Amino acid sequence: MSDSRDISENNTENEKEYEDVCFICRRPESKTGRMFHLPNNITVCDDCMHKTMETVTQLDYQGMMDNPYMMNGFQPYSAPVQNKQESKTDEQDSKEDQDEPEKTEKNTPFRGFPNISFVNLSDLQGDGGIPNRQRIRKKKKSDKPLLDIKDIPAPHKIKEQLDEYIIGQEHAKKVISVAVYNHYKRVATGTMDQIEIEKSNMLMIGPTGCGKTYLVKTLARLLDVPLAITDATSLTEAGYIGDDIESVVSKLLAAADNDVERAEQGIIFIDEIDKIAKKKNNNSRDVSGESVQQGMLRLLEGADVEVPVGASSKNAMVPLTTVNTRNILFICGGAFPDLEEIIKQRLSKKTGIGYGADLKDKYDHDKDILEKVTVEDLKKFGMIPEFLGRLPVIYTLQGLSEEMLVRILKEPKNAILKQYQKLLELDEVKLEFDDGALEAIAKKAMEKDTGARALRAIIEDFMLDIMYEIPKDDNIGRVVITKEYVEGSGGPIIDIRGNAE
Ligand code: ADP
Repeated sequence: MSDSRDISENNTENEKEYEDVCFICRRPESKTGRMFHLPNNITVCDDCMHKTMETVTQLDYQGMMDNPYMMNGFQPYSAPVQNKQESKTDEQDSKEDQDEPEKTEKNTPFRGFPNISFVNLSDLQGDGGIPNRQRIRKKKKSDKPLLDIKDIPAPHKIKEQLDEYIIGQEHAKKVISVAVYNHYKRVATGTMDQIEIEKSNMLMIGPTGCGKTYLVKTLARLLDVPLAITDATSLTEAGYIGDDIESVVSKLLAAADNDVERAEQGIIFIDEIDKIAKKKNNNSRDVSGESVQQGMLRLLEGADVEVPVGASSKNAMVPLTTVNTRNILFICGGAFPDLEEIIKQRLSKKTGIGYGADLKDKYDHDKDILEKVTVEDLKKFGMIPEFLGRLPVIYTLQGLSEEMLVRILKEPKNAILKQYQKLLELDEVKLEFDDGALEAIAKKAMEKDTGARALRAIIEDFMLDIMYEIPKDDNIGRVVITKEYVEGSGGPIIDIRGNAE
């Protein structure tokens, strides 16, 4: 039994490239320090082992030690107990061995631990007896530093990259490129310490499906920084049902593979931020609205947050670590549905009297009315001033027009059409869409009013038959999707192999 706990610091030669990962908190050896090696190739870090032992000590620890059934396959690290085990005579040991199977067969629950079951380590073995060893490849010494100042591309370079994926939204792409460039330049040089430059946290306003989330996702991928996306509607003030506000930092830590340093330079995107506006005429405590805004102030500004490693709940038996949010870039996004009315009201009030008076409905047909948003309008909407003060970069995204939807179908690097073309290319079939078909798809998507999100569903709908039928017939060489086929009044044009070429 004594070999069940083996503090092994020497890995065998051919394993040098890998490092062990803690079974409980999932952090690698390079972060946790030494590991305890338990049977079946399970490794547990020092923190988790002690945390486990602390919890067990608070229970009837002594009782557990005396009970051979509980100790089956699990030998915690504790010096006095170790001595006790070692001082046993062979006679006692063999007696214990005889007792064990009997108790296991009866499956006697241990009296001292109601509702607690101990893991049988042998159950954790993988199929076919292959141990589930949790390891990750060690980072090579030559890996580039996280954010080298020289590596931060200039704003126009960032925008160029974004252009390859995001159609339109020129203003938004420009603003985000400059803000991100400034933010990471500050992070890399650490000048935030000497000159208190404001963080470039952002507020993005735009209708649903216009590419808010997509823009942030693309950006994080290009910059190779971890990203956590949360829905503000799921957040509540700590202590109430729902995720507490700090859980967004846990998510980011998980996205950074529990690497605190990487997480501290990541991006947190909070969607549906308009849903946590202050509720009007509300006398009860607003736990999911104004209180969430209040609770987020600390995070947006920069604070030390204690988060559990490898779990989303602080109650779980896992170690806590501290993440500083000072260099985390927060981007909030929302559709702000009634904001247009507020802006219109403000604009028409300003010019409402005298000769210069605008007609009341002058702004009704103004497509770009959202661009005229001010902090005052957002306050009126229900965002608290302190919250807005911590989001200095405010910009809007346009609703997508039919023409933009057509471009989204075919132009981005990973456009939906390109994906389908690639799939059929593997069957050596050429897939084409005529212009009328693309317009018909865009028109259908416009009717759904969910922006570009509707496109995929519409295409999937009519492509199902194509994807099902085409591989049946080896002779087919080319398929052209027509307007009639999209509208359901005709079929696609299908060419037989010899003719197509
Ligand atoms: P939201 O603004 O509601 O967050 P999303 O970013 O989730 O919308 O957009 C949904 C999908 O629509 C994205 O995954 C992306 O494929 C597509 N999309 C939306 N806007 C654009 C755009 N401007 N350029 C390219 N694709 C877009």
